[in-house]
Amino acid sequence: MTLITKIIRNTVLLQMLLCGAFTIAQNTSTPEDIHQSVQTQTDLIFDELVKIRRDFHMHPEVSGEEKRTSAQIAAYLRDLGLEVKTGVGGYGVVGILDTGRPGKKIAWRADIDAMPSSEPDVVDFASKNEGVRHICGHDIHTTVGMGIANVLASQKEKLTGTIYFVFQPKEEINEGASAMIADGLFDLIQPDEIYGLHVSPYPVGTIATKAANVFNHFTVVEITYKASNNQDAIVDFTKSLMANAQTYGPDHKFWDPNSVFSLKLGVTHPNTIFKDYDALMHELNVKQTNDTLKMRILLNTSSKERLDAFLPMIKNKIETSAYAKDLLSVSYNLMPGLPVMETPINDAALTKASLKSITNVYGPQSVISLYGVPPFQFSDDFAYFQKEVPGVYYFLGVSNMEKGIAGMPHTPNFEADEEAIRTGVNYFSSMIIERL
Ligand SMILES: [Zn+2]
Ligand SMILES: [Zn+2]
Repeated sequence: MTLITKIIRNTVLLQMLLCGAFTIAQNTSTPEDIHQSVQTQTDLIFDELVKIRRDFHMHPEVSGEEKRTSAQIAAYLRDLGLEVKTGVGGYGVVGILDTGRPGKKIAWRADIDAMPSSEPDVVDFASKNEGVRHICGHDIHTTVGMGIANVLASQKEKLTGTIYFVFQPKEEINEGASAMIADGLFDLIQPDEIYGLHVSPYPVGTIATKAANVFNHFTVVEITYKASNNQDAIVDFTKSLMANAQTYGPDHKFWDPNSVFSLKLGVTHPNTIFKDYDALMHELNVKQTNDTLKMRILLNTSSKERLDAFLPMIKNKIETSAYAKDLLSVSYNLMPGLPVMETPINDAALTKASLKSITNVYGPQSVISLYGVPPFQFSDDFAYFQKEVPGVYYFLGVSNMEKGIAGMPHTPNFEADEEAIRTGVNYFSSMIIERL
Protein backbone atom coordinates (compact mmCIF):
# COMPACT_ATOMS: atom_id res chain seq x y z
CA MET A 1 0.00 0.00 0.00
CA THR A 2 1.44 3.30 -0.98
CA LEU A 3 0.91 6.11 1.49
CA ILE A 4 1.12 9.63 0.22
CA THR A 5 0.20 11.53 3.37
CA LYS A 6 -0.67 9.99 6.69
CA ILE A 7 -3.77 11.55 8.22
CA ILE A 8 -5.27 8.85 10.34
CA ARG A 9 -4.46 8.26 13.95
CA ASN A 10 -4.16 5.10 15.95
CA THR A 11 -7.30 6.08 17.84
CA VAL A 12 -9.33 5.08 14.79
CA LEU A 13 -8.01 1.62 15.14
CA LEU A 14 -8.51 1.40 18.82
CA GLN A 15 -12.08 2.62 18.51
CA MET A 16 -12.75 0.15 15.78
CA LEU A 17 -11.44 -2.72 17.81
CA LEU A 18 -13.29 -1.64 20.93
CA CYS A 19 -16.58 -0.96 19.22
CA GLY A 20 -17.06 -4.65 18.56
CA ALA A 21 -18.04 -3.95 15.00
CA PHE A 22 -16.82 -7.30 13.86
CA THR A 23 -16.57 -10.80 15.14
CA ILE A 24 -14.00 -13.37 14.20
CA ALA A 25 -15.30 -15.70 11.56
CA GLN A 26 -15.91 -19.34 12.30
CA ASN A 27 -15.87 -21.94 9.61
CA THR A 28 -19.33 -23.45 9.61
CA SER A 29 -19.50 -24.61 6.02
CA THR A 30 -19.30 -28.12 4.67
CA PRO A 31 -16.61 -27.88 2.03
CA GLU A 32 -16.40 -30.01 -1.06
CA ASP A 33 -13.61 -32.58 -1.06
CA ILE A 34 -11.13 -30.37 -2.83
CA HIS A 35 -11.71 -27.52 -0.41
CA GLN A 36 -11.22 -29.95 2.45
CA SER A 37 -7.92 -30.92 0.82
CA VAL A 38 -7.02 -27.21 0.55
CA GLN A 39 -7.54 -26.75 4.28
CA THR A 40 -5.67 -29.94 5.16
CA GLN A 41 -2.68 -28.88 3.07
CA THR A 42 -2.77 -25.34 4.49
CA ASP A 43 -2.75 -26.74 8.03
CA LEU A 44 0.13 -29.02 7.09
CA ILE A 45 2.34 -26.18 5.85
CA PHE A 46 1.14 -23.49 8.27
CA ASP A 47 4.04 -23.66 10.74
CA GLU A 48 6.50 -23.57 7.86
CA LEU A 49 4.70 -20.54 6.40
CA VAL A 50 4.94 -18.72 9.73
CA LYS A 51 8.70 -19.41 9.75
CA ILE A 52 8.98 -18.08 6.21
CA ARG A 53 7.03 -14.94 7.15
CA ARG A 54 9.22 -14.30 10.17
CA ASP A 55 12.33 -14.78 8.07
CA PHE A 56 11.08 -12.12 5.62
CA HIS A 57 10.19 -9.92 8.57
CA MET A 58 13.72 -10.21 9.98
CA HIS A 59 15.27 -9.47 6.58
CA PRO A 60 13.17 -6.69 5.08
CA GLU A 61 14.32 -4.96 1.91
CA VAL A 62 13.17 -1.55 0.68
CA SER A 63 11.67 -0.94 -2.75
CA GLY A 64 14.05 -1.80 -5.56
CA GLU A 65 16.43 -3.76 -3.31
CA GLU A 66 14.40 -6.95 -2.82
CA LYS A 67 17.31 -9.22 -3.84
CA ARG A 68 17.23 -11.71 -0.97
CA THR A 69 13.42 -11.79 -0.79
CA SER A 70 13.22 -12.45 -4.52
CA ALA A 71 15.77 -15.28 -4.35
CA GLN A 72 13.88 -16.97 -1.48
CA ILE A 73 10.61 -16.80 -3.39
CA ALA A 74 12.14 -18.16 -6.60
CA ALA A 75 13.78 -21.09 -4.77
CA TYR A 76 10.51 -21.97 -3.00
CA LEU A 77 8.49 -21.92 -6.24
CA ARG A 78 11.11 -24.03 -8.05
CA ASP A 79 10.94 -26.59 -5.23
CA LEU A 80 7.19 -26.79 -5.81
CA GLY A 81 7.86 -27.64 -9.46
CA LEU A 82 6.69 -24.34 -10.92
CA GLU A 83 8.30 -22.74 -13.94
CA VAL A 84 10.01 -19.62 -12.55
CA LYS A 85 11.10 -16.36 -14.19
CA THR A 86 13.17 -13.89 -12.21
CA GLY A 87 14.30 -10.32 -12.79
CA VAL A 88 10.95 -9.17 -14.17
CA GLY A 89 10.78 -5.38 -13.70
CA GLY A 90 13.61 -5.41 -11.15
CA TYR A 91 13.43 -8.15 -8.53
CA GLY A 92 10.00 -9.33 -9.67
CA VAL A 93 9.40 -13.10 -9.76
CA VAL A 94 6.81 -14.96 -11.80
CA GLY A 95 5.84 -18.56 -11.05
CA ILE A 96 3.79 -20.56 -13.53
CA LEU A 97 1.72 -23.56 -12.41
CA ASP A 98 0.53 -25.20 -15.62
CA THR A 99 -1.81 -28.13 -14.98
CA GLY A 100 -1.26 -29.36 -18.55
CA ARG A 101 -5.02 -29.27 -19.11
CA PRO A 102 -6.81 -26.52 -20.98
CA GLY A 103 -8.73 -24.00 -18.93
CA LYS A 104 -8.77 -20.55 -17.54
CA LYS A 105 -5.60 -18.65 -16.70
CA ILE A 106 -5.61 -16.87 -13.37
CA ALA A 107 -2.95 -14.63 -11.83
CA TRP A 108 -2.32 -14.01 -8.13
CA ARG A 109 -0.21 -10.99 -7.23
CA ALA A 110 1.77 -10.39 -4.03
CA ASP A 111 3.95 -7.34 -3.36
CA ILE A 112 7.24 -8.06 -1.61
CA ASP A 113 8.99 -4.82 -0.56
CA ALA A 114 9.43 -3.33 2.93
CA MET A 115 9.65 0.29 4.07
CA PRO A 116 12.09 2.67 5.69
CA SER A 117 11.30 2.92 9.42
CA SER A 118 13.60 3.63 12.31
CA GLU A 119 10.98 2.99 15.00
CA PRO A 120 11.63 -0.11 17.13
CA ASP A 121 9.97 -3.32 15.98
CA VAL A 122 7.20 -4.62 18.24
CA VAL A 123 7.69 -8.35 17.65
CA ASP A 124 10.26 -10.90 18.88
CA PHE A 125 11.42 -11.57 15.34
CA ALA A 126 12.48 -7.96 14.85
CA SER A 127 14.05 -6.59 11.70
CA LYS A 128 17.80 -7.14 11.45
CA ASN A 129 18.13 -4.48 8.77
CA GLU A 130 18.50 -1.18 10.52
CA GLY A 131 16.03 1.45 9.36
CA VAL A 132 13.95 -1.01 7.32
CA ARG A 133 10.78 -2.77 8.44
CA HIS A 134 7.79 -4.66 7.12
CA ILE A 135 5.20 -2.23 8.49
CA CYS A 136 2.97 -2.57 5.44
CA GLY A 137 2.60 -6.33 5.85
CA HIS A 138 4.12 -7.33 2.51
CA ASP A 139 5.91 -10.16 4.34
CA ILE A 140 2.39 -11.56 4.96
CA HIS A 141 1.40 -10.95 1.32
CA THR A 142 4.50 -12.75 0.05
CA THR A 143 3.96 -15.68 2.41
CA VAL A 144 0.27 -16.02 1.50
CA GLY A 145 1.23 -16.01 -2.20
CA MET A 146 3.78 -18.77 -1.60
CA GLY A 147 1.24 -20.71 0.48
CA ILE A 148 -1.37 -20.56 -2.27
CA ALA A 149 1.25 -21.76 -4.76
CA ASN A 150 2.05 -24.68 -2.45
CA VAL A 151 -1.60 -25.62 -1.90
CA LEU A 152 -2.57 -25.38 -5.57
CA ALA A 153 0.55 -27.32 -6.60
CA SER A 154 -0.54 -30.06 -4.17
CA GLN A 155 -3.93 -30.20 -5.95
CA LYS A 156 -2.50 -29.91 -9.47
CA GLU A 157 -3.82 -33.29 -10.68
CA LYS A 158 -7.39 -32.22 -9.89
CA LEU A 159 -7.14 -28.81 -11.59
CA THR A 160 -7.40 -27.42 -15.11
CA GLY A 161 -5.88 -24.30 -16.66
CA THR A 162 -2.90 -22.29 -15.45
CA ILE A 163 -2.19 -20.29 -12.33
CA TYR A 164 0.38 -17.50 -12.41
CA PHE A 165 2.04 -16.11 -9.29
CA VAL A 166 3.26 -12.54 -9.69
CA PHE A 167 5.62 -11.40 -6.91
CA GLN A 168 5.94 -7.68 -7.41
CA PRO A 169 8.76 -5.42 -6.13
CA LYS A 170 8.68 -1.64 -5.56
CA GLU A 171 5.03 -1.29 -4.58
CA GLU A 172 5.71 1.31 -1.90
CA ILE A 173 7.13 3.70 -4.46
CA ASN A 174 4.33 3.00 -6.91
CA GLU A 175 6.73 1.70 -9.57
CA GLY A 176 6.80 -2.10 -9.44
CA ALA A 177 3.62 -2.97 -11.30
CA SER A 178 4.43 -0.59 -14.14
CA ALA A 179 8.01 -1.88 -14.23
CA MET A 180 6.88 -5.51 -14.52
CA ILE A 181 4.40 -4.61 -17.27
CA ALA A 182 7.05 -2.59 -19.15
CA ASP A 183 9.40 -5.56 -18.83
CA GLY A 184 6.96 -7.78 -20.72
CA LEU A 185 4.97 -9.39 -17.91
CA PHE A 186 1.93 -9.83 -20.12
CA ASP A 187 4.03 -11.38 -22.88
CA LEU A 188 5.23 -13.91 -20.35
CA ILE A 189 1.79 -14.64 -18.93
CA GLN A 190 -1.71 -14.12 -20.35
CA PRO A 191 -4.10 -14.16 -17.40
CA ASP A 192 -7.85 -13.92 -17.90
CA GLU A 193 -8.27 -12.61 -14.35
CA ILE A 194 -5.96 -11.20 -11.68
CA TYR A 195 -6.33 -11.09 -7.90
CA GLY A 196 -4.36 -9.73 -4.97
CA LEU A 197 -4.71 -8.58 -1.38
CA HIS A 198 -3.54 -6.20 1.28
CA VAL A 199 -3.49 -6.68 5.02
CA SER A 200 -5.91 -4.41 6.85
CA PRO A 201 -7.40 -3.72 10.30
CA TYR A 202 -10.44 -5.95 9.75
CA PRO A 203 -10.57 -8.92 12.14
CA VAL A 204 -8.49 -11.97 11.42
CA GLY A 205 -10.62 -14.63 9.73
CA THR A 206 -12.27 -12.10 7.44
CA ILE A 207 -11.61 -10.54 4.08
CA ALA A 208 -13.23 -7.34 2.84
CA THR A 209 -13.76 -5.71 -0.51
CA LYS A 210 -16.24 -3.92 -2.76
CA ALA A 211 -16.95 -3.64 -6.45
CA ALA A 212 -15.40 -0.63 -8.24
CA ASN A 213 -12.75 1.38 -6.36
CA VAL A 214 -11.49 0.16 -2.98
CA PHE A 215 -9.58 3.34 -2.19
CA ASN A 216 -10.59 6.96 -2.60
CA HIS A 217 -9.12 9.10 -5.37
CA PHE A 218 -6.96 12.01 -4.40
CA THR A 219 -4.80 14.65 -5.91
CA VAL A 220 -3.63 18.20 -5.32
CA VAL A 221 -5.71 20.95 -6.88
CA GLU A 222 -3.59 23.92 -7.91
CA ILE A 223 -5.20 27.26 -8.73
CA THR A 224 -2.95 29.91 -10.22
CA TYR A 225 -3.86 33.58 -10.54
CA LYS A 226 -1.83 36.47 -11.90
CA ALA A 227 -0.02 38.43 -9.21
CA SER A 228 -2.40 41.10 -7.99
CA ASN A 229 -2.74 43.98 -5.55
CA ASN A 230 -5.98 42.32 -4.61
CA GLN A 231 -4.34 39.22 -3.13
CA ASP A 232 -6.27 39.06 0.14
CA ALA A 233 -9.64 39.27 -1.58
CA ILE A 234 -8.66 36.59 -4.10
CA VAL A 235 -7.45 34.27 -1.33
CA ASP A 236 -10.65 34.80 0.70
CA PHE A 237 -12.78 34.21 -2.37
CA THR A 238 -10.92 30.99 -3.22
CA LYS A 239 -11.06 29.70 0.35
CA SER A 240 -14.79 30.22 0.49
CA LEU A 241 -15.26 28.74 -2.97
CA MET A 242 -13.41 25.57 -1.99
CA ALA A 243 -15.17 25.29 1.39
CA ASN A 244 -18.57 25.49 -0.32
CA ALA A 245 -17.56 22.99 -2.98
CA GLN A 246 -17.00 20.14 -0.58
CA THR A 247 -19.72 17.70 0.37
CA TYR A 248 -19.57 17.99 4.15
CA GLY A 249 -19.27 21.08 6.35
CA PRO A 250 -16.57 21.38 9.02
CA ASP A 251 -18.78 20.07 11.85
CA HIS A 252 -19.93 16.94 10.05
CA LYS A 253 -19.11 13.51 11.47
CA PHE A 254 -17.28 12.80 8.21
CA TRP A 255 -14.25 14.55 9.71
CA ASP A 256 -14.19 12.44 12.85
CA PRO A 257 -11.66 9.63 12.20
CA ASN A 258 -13.77 7.30 14.35
CA SER A 259 -16.62 7.50 11.84
CA VAL A 260 -14.74 5.40 9.28
CA PHE A 261 -15.45 2.14 11.07
CA SER A 262 -18.59 3.19 12.94
CA LEU A 263 -21.45 0.73 12.49
CA LYS A 264 -24.00 3.36 11.41
CA LEU A 265 -21.84 5.72 9.37
CA GLY A 266 -18.77 3.72 8.45
CA VAL A 267 -17.65 1.92 5.31
CA THR A 268 -19.39 -1.36 6.17
CA HIS A 269 -22.86 0.22 6.22
CA PRO A 270 -24.82 0.28 2.93
CA ASN A 271 -25.67 3.98 3.47
CA THR A 272 -22.24 5.01 4.69
CA ILE A 273 -21.28 8.70 4.62
CA PHE A 274 -18.10 7.61 2.83
CA LYS A 275 -19.94 6.64 -0.36
CA ASP A 276 -20.21 9.91 -2.32
CA TYR A 277 -18.02 12.82 -1.34
CA ASP A 278 -15.57 15.53 -2.32
CA ALA A 279 -13.40 16.45 0.65
CA LEU A 280 -10.60 18.99 0.96
CA MET A 281 -7.87 18.02 3.37
CA HIS A 282 -5.56 20.39 5.24
CA GLU A 283 -5.38 24.16 4.77
CA LEU A 284 -5.19 25.99 1.50
CA ASN A 285 -1.50 26.59 0.84
CA VAL A 286 -0.88 30.08 -0.57
CA LYS A 287 2.30 31.11 -2.33
CA GLN A 288 2.97 34.42 -4.07
CA THR A 289 5.81 35.02 -6.52
CA ASN A 290 6.54 38.15 -8.54
CA ASP A 291 4.21 36.98 -11.31
CA THR A 292 1.72 34.60 -9.76
CA LEU A 293 -0.49 33.79 -6.81
CA LYS A 294 -0.69 30.01 -6.37
CA MET A 295 -3.03 28.08 -4.11
CA ARG A 296 -2.84 24.35 -3.52
CA ILE A 297 -5.08 21.99 -1.60
CA LEU A 298 -5.39 18.21 -1.31
CA LEU A 299 -8.63 16.92 -2.75
CA ASN A 300 -10.11 13.55 -1.78
CA THR A 301 -13.07 12.17 -3.66
CA SER A 302 -14.98 8.91 -3.38
CA SER A 303 -14.62 8.13 -7.08
CA LYS A 304 -12.63 8.99 -10.17
CA GLU A 305 -15.79 10.41 -11.76
CA ARG A 306 -16.14 12.93 -8.94
CA LEU A 307 -12.46 13.81 -9.17
CA ASP A 308 -12.80 14.43 -12.90
CA ALA A 309 -15.87 16.61 -12.37
CA PHE A 310 -14.38 18.72 -9.56
CA LEU A 311 -11.78 20.65 -11.52
CA PRO A 312 -14.06 21.93 -14.34
CA MET A 313 -16.64 22.90 -11.70
CA ILE A 314 -14.12 25.03 -9.79
CA LYS A 315 -12.77 26.53 -12.98
CA ASN A 316 -16.24 27.48 -14.11
CA LYS A 317 -17.04 29.16 -10.80
CA ILE A 318 -13.90 31.29 -10.98
CA GLU A 319 -14.50 32.16 -14.62
CA THR A 320 -17.95 33.46 -13.80
CA SER A 321 -16.72 35.47 -10.79
CA ALA A 322 -15.22 38.93 -10.37
CA TYR A 323 -11.77 37.31 -10.46
CA ALA A 324 -12.10 35.71 -13.90
CA LYS A 325 -9.55 38.11 -15.40
CA ASP A 326 -6.99 37.19 -12.74
CA LEU A 327 -7.18 33.42 -13.29
CA LEU A 328 -4.30 31.71 -15.10
CA SER A 329 -5.05 28.02 -14.56
CA VAL A 330 -6.77 25.32 -12.50
CA SER A 331 -4.97 21.99 -12.57
CA TYR A 332 -4.14 18.76 -10.76
CA ASN A 333 -0.62 18.52 -9.46
CA LEU A 334 0.21 15.66 -7.12
CA MET A 335 3.74 14.98 -8.25
CA PRO A 336 5.55 15.09 -11.58
CA GLY A 337 4.22 12.45 -13.94
CA LEU A 338 1.52 11.43 -11.49
CA PRO A 339 -1.23 14.03 -11.58
CA VAL A 340 -3.83 11.58 -10.31
CA MET A 341 -2.96 8.47 -8.31
CA GLU A 342 -4.28 5.33 -9.98
CA THR A 343 -6.21 3.21 -7.52
CA PRO A 344 -7.39 -0.39 -7.75
CA ILE A 345 -10.77 -0.69 -9.44
CA ASN A 346 -12.47 -4.03 -8.97
CA ASP A 347 -14.38 -5.73 -11.73
CA ALA A 348 -18.00 -5.93 -10.54
CA ALA A 349 -18.80 -9.40 -11.92
CA LEU A 350 -15.56 -10.92 -10.65
CA THR A 351 -16.01 -9.31 -7.23
CA LYS A 352 -19.44 -10.87 -6.88
CA ALA A 353 -18.44 -14.29 -8.23
CA SER A 354 -15.21 -14.57 -6.26
CA LEU A 355 -16.83 -13.53 -2.97
CA LYS A 356 -19.62 -16.02 -3.56
CA SER A 357 -17.10 -18.80 -4.06
CA ILE A 358 -15.47 -17.90 -0.73
CA THR A 359 -18.70 -17.63 1.27
CA ASN A 360 -19.91 -20.93 -0.24
CA VAL A 361 -16.93 -22.71 1.26
CA TYR A 362 -16.07 -20.67 4.36
CA GLY A 363 -19.43 -19.17 5.32
CA PRO A 364 -20.97 -15.69 4.96
CA GLN A 365 -19.14 -14.38 8.03
CA SER A 366 -15.83 -14.77 6.20
CA VAL A 367 -16.56 -11.75 3.98
CA ILE A 368 -17.15 -8.12 4.97
CA SER A 369 -18.86 -6.10 2.24
CA LEU A 370 -17.65 -2.53 1.92
CA TYR A 371 -19.85 0.29 0.61
CA GLY A 372 -17.56 3.28 0.84
CA VAL A 373 -13.94 4.39 0.85
CA PRO A 374 -12.27 6.28 3.69
CA PRO A 375 -10.60 9.61 2.82
CA PHE A 376 -7.13 8.24 3.60
CA GLN A 377 -4.27 8.78 1.20
CA PHE A 378 -3.52 5.15 0.54
CA SER A 379 -3.40 3.44 -2.82
CA ASP A 380 -1.82 0.39 -4.47
CA ASP A 381 -0.21 0.06 -7.88
CA PHE A 382 -2.12 -3.22 -8.33
CA ALA A 383 -4.30 -0.69 -10.19
CA TYR A 384 -1.92 -0.93 -13.16
CA PHE A 385 -2.45 -4.69 -13.50
CA GLN A 386 -6.21 -4.15 -13.34
CA LYS A 387 -5.97 -1.73 -16.24
CA GLU A 388 -4.71 -4.67 -18.34
CA VAL A 389 -6.64 -7.58 -16.86
CA PRO A 390 -9.96 -7.61 -14.94
CA GLY A 391 -9.46 -8.47 -11.31
CA VAL A 392 -10.22 -7.96 -7.66
CA TYR A 393 -8.20 -6.47 -4.79
CA TYR A 394 -9.12 -7.68 -1.32
CA PHE A 395 -8.32 -6.60 2.21
CA LEU A 396 -7.15 -9.43 4.45
CA GLY A 397 -8.11 -8.89 8.10
CA VAL A 398 -5.10 -9.16 10.43
CA SER A 399 -6.37 -7.52 13.63
CA ASN A 400 -7.18 -9.45 16.77
CA MET A 401 -8.46 -7.46 19.71
CA GLU A 402 -8.12 -10.39 22.12
CA LYS A 403 -4.40 -10.50 21.37
CA GLY A 404 -4.13 -6.70 21.30
CA ILE A 405 -3.10 -6.75 17.65
CA ALA A 406 -4.11 -3.67 15.66
CA GLY A 407 -3.14 -4.29 12.07
CA MET A 408 -3.02 -0.79 10.64
CA PRO A 409 -0.36 -0.60 7.91
CA HIS A 410 2.22 2.19 8.01
CA THR A 411 1.92 2.69 11.77
CA PRO A 412 5.08 2.14 13.85
CA ASN A 413 3.36 -0.52 15.97
CA PHE A 414 1.94 -2.40 13.00
CA GLU A 415 1.41 -6.03 13.87
CA ALA A 416 -0.51 -8.85 12.21
CA ASP A 417 -2.14 -11.95 13.61
CA GLU A 418 -0.34 -14.71 11.70
CA GLU A 419 -3.56 -16.75 11.61
CA ALA A 420 -4.38 -14.41 8.73
CA ILE A 421 -1.87 -16.42 6.68
CA ARG A 422 -4.06 -19.49 7.12
CA THR A 423 -7.16 -17.47 6.20
CA GLY A 424 -5.54 -16.01 3.10
CA VAL A 425 -4.15 -19.30 1.84
CA ASN A 426 -7.41 -21.17 2.46
CA TYR A 427 -9.85 -18.60 1.10
CA PHE A 428 -7.92 -17.65 -1.98
CA SER A 429 -6.76 -21.17 -2.90
CA SER A 430 -10.43 -22.21 -2.81
CA MET A 431 -11.46 -19.08 -4.72
CA ILE A 432 -8.92 -19.69 -7.49
CA ILE A 433 -9.98 -23.34 -7.76
CA GLU A 434 -13.60 -22.23 -8.17
CA ARG A 435 -12.62 -19.64 -10.78
CA LEU A 436 -10.49 -22.02 -12.90
ZN1 LIG B 1 1.34 -2.26 1.30
ZN1 LIG C 1 2.53 0.47 2.24
